[in-house]
Amino acid sequence: MTQELPVVTRFAPSPTGYLHIGGARTALFNWLYARGRGGKFLLRIEDTDRARSTPEATEAILKGLTWLGLDWDGEPVSQFERKDRHAEVAREMLANGTAYKCFSTQDEIEAFREAAKAEGRSTLFLSPWRDADPSTYPDAPFVLRLRAPREGQTVVRDAVQGDVTFGNDQLDDMVLLRSDGTPTYMHAVVVDDHDMGVTHIIRGDDHLTNAARQIQIYEAMGWAIPVFAHIPLIHGTDGKKLSKRHGAVGLHDYAAMGYPASAMRNYLARLGWSHGDDELFDDAQALEWFDLGGIGKAPARLDFKKLEHVSGFHIGRMENGALLAELDAFRAEIGEPALTEVQKARIEPALDALKSKAKTLPALLDQAHYALIERPIVADEKAAAALDTVSRGILRELTAALQNVTWSRDDLEASAKAVGETHGLGLGKIAAPLRAVLAGRSSTPSVFDMMLALGRDETLARMQDQLG
Ligand code: GLU
Repeated sequence: MTQELPVVTRFAPSPTGYLHIGGARTALFNWLYARGRGGKFLLRIEDTDRARSTPEATEAILKGLTWLGLDWDGEPVSQFERKDRHAEVAREMLANGTAYKCFSTQDEIEAFREAAKAEGRSTLFLSPWRDADPSTYPDAPFVLRLRAPREGQTVVRDAVQGDVTFGNDQLDDMVLLRSDGTPTYMHAVVVDDHDMGVTHIIRGDDHLTNAARQIQIYEAMGWAIPVFAHIPLIHGTDGKKLSKRHGAVGLHDYAAMGYPASAMRNYLARLGWSHGDDELFDDAQALEWFDLGGIGKAPARLDFKKLEHVSGFHIGRMENGALLAELDAFRAEIGEPALTEVQKARIEPALDALKSKAKTLPALLDQAHYALIERPIVADEKAAAALDTVSRGILRELTAALQNVTWSRDDLEASAKAVGETHGLGLGKIAAPLRAVLAGRSSTPSVFDMMLALGRDETLARMQDQLG
């Protein structure tokens, strides 16, 4: 029996901005794959580009992952801090003959390319130092280049794309270590993935060609090649590659729109991956079902209708305590203070009715407005229009009638109906002024839902405030 290696995945963002929705999905796939198999999910910050990397961007990315609920194992690894190790491996390759010193200057490389172009040859640089005798080496700066195979092919055996073959004549002797001793990105990635024990690399398919080059480094070092899974990028609602033009591209944009993290996990999991016809699922199911075979080859399209649907499902099935925490997190995200204890106590009994209808957290808060406000309630213009002398009189009668009813939906409804009937009015006519009095708005949940959630004392107090 062969022993399966423990799964180790990683997310390796470049800290040059916020966490993009595509990056969040890549992280989620890696997290699901590892966590669903009792494996490890690691984080590596690819901060070798010193000019573009910022600590603020790293913070924003960690914050985004935390919001999404993706926990990683151990401390995040800084790629920059591992530069000595990258150089060490490059020197090992020099020693074992899979790398060589190249003294060609930028001008010489340019000249080579110009000549190749003029002669209609491939412009891939062929270094004259590849097979040079070390005794001819000048005392001059040099880079370390990979002695890449010139014949044959390099095949990326991709779990999503299948076997993708690159002719080795298309892959040049890439630079591993620059003349100042710093590693190139391509080299650093391989050394890090090897040292971190990464077994599965799941990332955007914009890295597919890189995989071929990276495989050449693995082979030069005699290292085990991880499983690659290159996932198609996300497209916007118009079917074009997602860009800022499409509006919401940062994960934080989605948090600010009030989609709960559990819904985003569900939605992002389905963006490019499927499990039969299952659209709505929880983390336990996603962890059980997620596999590389379910990742599609075609780019997935953002679809806000679907996202709303998924979001409504997750809000609807959330425990009230968890939902209150989500509401607080959302308010923090948009710069609003946390709900007070009084507000929480008032909103809690309303949640069951509210959460089955709301598709987003702000939609829920909007419907919960009546429970969050304090007496005296001030009606907006539209609501106040329903509060004329006649309706005030009717509501006064209702206030009296409500003093003695049990506070149940049936009794509340019966009282309102009875009062209405004495004036030849249906429930609808009573509801509008009642909304104004209880919520100060014309669009609210059902008046009975509000009365039940507010309770007898608060309901009657609100009515008496307005009706005198
Ligand atoms: N740092 C790369 C990026 O942000 C990812 C590299 C990789 O996953 O190998 O696109």
